[in-house]
This record gives sequence, structure tokens and C-alpha cells, in this order.
Amino acid sequence: MFPAPSKYFLCKNRLNVIIPSTCAENNNLAFLICSCYNEIMEEEKKKLSWPLVGNGHIIDFLSGSVKNNNLAHTYIFHGPDNLGKTTAANFFAQILLCHRNSEGLPCGECSSCKKFSVNANKTEYKEEYSLGGAHGDLYLIKKEKDKKNISIGQIREFIRKLGMSSFLNSYKIGIIKHADSLSIEAANALLKTLEEPQKKVIIILVATDIGALPATVVSRGQVLKFNPVGFDVIYDYLIKERSVSRSAAKNFSRICLGRPALAVKFFEDKEFYDNYLKRVNVFLNFLNQDINGRLQSVEELAAPCGAGPEAAVSVGRILEIWLGLSRDLLLLEFNHAELIQHEIALKELMAAKAKLNLENLLNLTVALRQADKYIKANVSPKLVLERVAVSI
Ligand SMILES: [Zn+2]
Repeated sequence: MFPAPSKYFLCKNRLNVIIPSTCAENNNLAFLICSCYNEIMEEEKKKLSWPLVGNGHIIDFLSGSVKNNNLAHTYIFHGPDNLGKTTAANFFAQILLCHRNSEGLPCGECSSCKKFSVNANKTEYKEEYSLGGAHGDLYLIKKEKDKKNISIGQIREFIRKLGMSSFLNSYKIGIIKHADSLSIEAANALLKTLEEPQKKVIIILVATDIGALPATVVSRGQVLKFNPVGFDVIYDYLIKERSVSRSAAKNFSRICLGRPALAVKFFEDKEFYDNYLKRVNVFLNFLNQDINGRLQSVEELAAPCGAGPEAAVSVGRILEIWLGLSRDLLLLEFNHAELIQHEIALKELMAAKAKLNLENLLNLTVALRQADKYIKANVSPKLVLERVAVSI
């Protein structure tokens, strides 16, 4: 933007401004440049950046698509939970709906962006932000609480809203969260819309398990896979962007299993973290309890999980934590303490390992993996936990 730098000039605002040597003595020009530089820096500060930690390939692809005006009608964002898929979908929508987007980023200032910014000052992973506020050209649906599927009624309403003309003659964006929960009828109804895309209508499907989506739907979309993020990337993010202490950052980045949103939730939501620790302790205490004690612990753990699909999700998370702990025990058995996930519970893990031989540890891991399969096969969540308690 400026001529080739040959001299730095310190202006009254104490900004290091680059001006050509031929103009170095010309204060008027220098201050003019300073003023211009200030404005540029102010604009830069206002610009938003992608609210994603890791998964740079997603940012590069979508930013490139916007810059080259090479957009698909349908996108499918898939990958494990808590990687920021819905947040990314929402930010992508903000870019597309922004009146002054430049360099593939939203301005953050226009009337469209302001509708997104209602919740943008909160953490970028909060659900409120990912719902996009009250933007008339953005519509999001998701599986309702305690419902098994996204219904055909929800999809019909979704399609109807996307078919209406835009408030601002811009894009209309539809986001379907939990798209892997579409009922068969809902998926078929959606397919008809995907097969006959409307101009300036973009649909983003967000799914954990792309295998649960009909192949006919997947074949209509641009598929983008979100991957778990490296421990070191999350560790750096927590320290630099969230001012988390080094020891806490190390702990959270390890127990989040590559999912930045989960790491953020651990330090923002004390109750959530305490609940995690409680689940860790129940597992570690199993080894000090008789069968009745273990079943009692399972009873107490399962009660708040409720029933129905939500209970299966909760118990699935408990099993995920216990699998992590059994992996830690195996790592300790092979003297790899530096690799364990729950360094915070090292002492308790060492005590537990002392009571188990390698065969016990392998059996435990097999029992937990089997339990995970039972949960996915809709076996009663409480029964699944009881089976684990009995098998230890
Ligand atoms: Zn804007």
C-alpha cells in the first residue's frame, strides 16, 4: 500500500510509519500518511476474524470461495462435536450477508453484521451466537430437545422461509444443525430442494456423523470435514487469546480431546468442569468399592441424565471420559505418564493402576468399548453403566 520502505518516521501518535526517503523531511506528508495509517489500523481492528481454532483448511477453502465468488448451493460441515462447525457456518453466513465484506471477511459494522453481533461479544462458541441473532435472511433449525429427529414439519417450514424473497435482496442462508438427525421424510423433502437450487439460496448442513445422512443428500453438497485440533494449538489459544494460566491450559487442552469449544467450556463453566471431575472420580473410586458401592455410584451418576435420547448422549459422554481414563491407565502401565490425558489425577490413576494387572486393564477397555456400542444401539443408558460397574 505504501511505497517501498526506506525510513521509519515516528509521528505524534507514536506510530512507526513507513515513508519514502524522498519525503522523509516533509512533515505534512508524514502526518498525512500517519492519519491514513491510523484509519487503516482502525479499519483493521474492526475487521472480524474467523472464530475457529485450528481447521485452517476450512477457513482457507471458504474464504477462497467467497473471494473467487465460487460458491456452492449446499455445504456439509461434518466432524466431531465441539469443533466449532455451527459457529463456522454462522460466520460464513455473516460473510455472505455482509454488505461490505472484503478479503473474505465481514466488516462487522454494516446493518447486516450488527444483527450478528447481538451476541458476538460473548464467547464465539456460545449457542446464542451460533443461532445468528434475529437476521431476517438467515434461518437455522436443529433437533429439538428430547426429540429423536428433525421432523418433516421443521424442514417444510425451513424450505418455505428460504423460498421467500430476501429482506435486503441478498443471499438467504439456511443452516441445519444436527443434520444427521433428519427423519427419512425430512431428508427426502430437503433433497427435492437441494436438487433444484434457487439462486442466492445457500444451505449448510452441520452433522457429527456424515454416514447418517442419505448418500443422495451428501452427493448434492460441498463436503468439508472438521478435524480434532492439536493439543499444542489449543494450549496456545487458551494462553494467548483467553489468558488462561499455563497449568490450567495444559489440563484443559489435554482433557478436551482436540475440541477447542470444550476446552473453553471447561474454564468458563465451573459447574460443567466440576461435573466432569465428578465423572472422573466415580470411575477412579470404582476400584475401591465393592459391587454394591459401584452400582450405587452408577445410580447417582445416571439419575441426572434423565431418559430418552438426551440420556444416551449424556451417558455416551461419561463413557468417553472413562475410556480416556482407561487409556491413561494403559499408558501408565507402559511407563508413558507424559502422554496421559488426566495429568490432574495422576496420583489417583497411579493408585488405581497398582490394583490392576495388564489383563484387567485390557478387559476394562474392552468392556468400555462394548458399552459405547450398546449406547449407540439404543440399549438403556443406565443398564449400560451398570454393566460396566459389574465388569470391573
Ligand atoms: Zn458487514
